Amino acid sequence: MTHKPINFVLIGRSGCGKGTQAKLLQEHFGNLFYISTGKAFRKIAEYDTQVGHKIKELLNGGGLPFDDLATMLWMSDITYNLKEDQGFCLDGAPRRLEEAKALDSFLEYLERKESTMIILLDISRKEAFDRLTKRRICKGCGALIPWVGDYKNMEVCDKCGGILEERADDVPQAIKNRLDYFDKDVSKVIKYFKKKKRLIVIKGEQPIEKVFSDILEEVRKRSDF
Ligand SMILES: [Zn+2]
Repeated sequence: MTHKPINFVLIGRSGCGKGTQAKLLQEHFGNLFYISTGKAFRKIAEYDTQVGHKIKELLNGGGLPFDDLATMLWMSDITYNLKEDQGFCLDGAPRRLEEAKALDSFLEYLERKESTMIILLDISRKEAFDRLTKRRICKGCGALIPWVGDYKNMEVCDKCGGILEERADDVPQAIKNRLDYFDKDVSKVIKYFKKKKRLIVIKGEQPIEKVFSDILEEVRKRSDF
């Protein structure tokens, strides 16, 4: 048993709870560097650049950015920020087969292949659709209010009292596009890691705490690298 930092790659349909579980993992493991490609893209969309405009358009229409852009984003984030003794949590990538292969090579280069948990938070397409059409964002502080458990009844933000509104990209057509994309492309990523016997499948339609304890249990079983 070495002291290599553990890394996480969270895969799953939009609304599966990747962000929530990433937060819990960060709390649990402490020194975990969080990388969200979704957040990075929303940031780029604010820029008054050609790419910024394109990304904004794509986010609003539920389309997708230039393929290699996502790879570039998480790769440079790791390159410029990840400390040697620090684990990372990658949320929302890889989404394409080529990206998965690039990640795999990069992990090998970093000697983190064995210490990286590739986790699929598995929820059905129907569950994803319900969660996405009903979740909201706080107008005041930007908190994302998921459509799970007690949050379903929330009327104002529990942190700042702000007004809750639907997220701009959470319109049904955009959601349908994102879910189609998952079935078409991300499924190839899943197949790729499954074939290599590296995919950890977690039942994502359970309560948040149960999903998290299932993840920890799987990590415990595998942390003999
Ligand atoms: Zn708020």
